[in-house]
Amino acid sequence: MNGMSKYVRKNDIILLSCIAVLIFVSFGLRIHSMMNNGSTIEITVDGKVYGRYALEQDQRIPVEIDDETKNIVVIADGEAYMAEASCPDKLCIHQGRIESRSQSIVCLPNRVIVTVVDGEEPEIDSMTD
Ligand SMILES: [Zn+2]
Repeated sequence: MNGMSKYVRKNDIILLSCIAVLIFVSFGLRIHSMMNNGSTIEITVDGKVYGRYALEQDQRIPVEIDDETKNIVVIADGEAYMAEASCPDKLCIHQGRIESRSQSIVCLPNRVIVTVVDGEEPEIDSMTD
């Protein structure tokens, strides 16, 4: 530190304030999007849960059935889509991207279903009977 320290500190405070505002805004946006979107996708194969994956994390999920990769689900920018599929119709690929709760992609030939769910278990209500 030298004679410039006062000047530097003032600039530092302005810079830190800007960074704090940016962090605050991006954090707020993240919470906002988490409240509006399902935060997790669930992949089921033949009615059984294959796995759950956070939509916040970009990733590429190979769905293996009988030691063969049948479908590849990709998560990017908070959305999930079927990137590759071994089925002949490729309807699942054409179903596009999902991001909101209860939206799903279905690959009928491979019996693969990708659904946006919340992180919590679904509540059991009177609809079950
Ligand atoms: Zn398909």
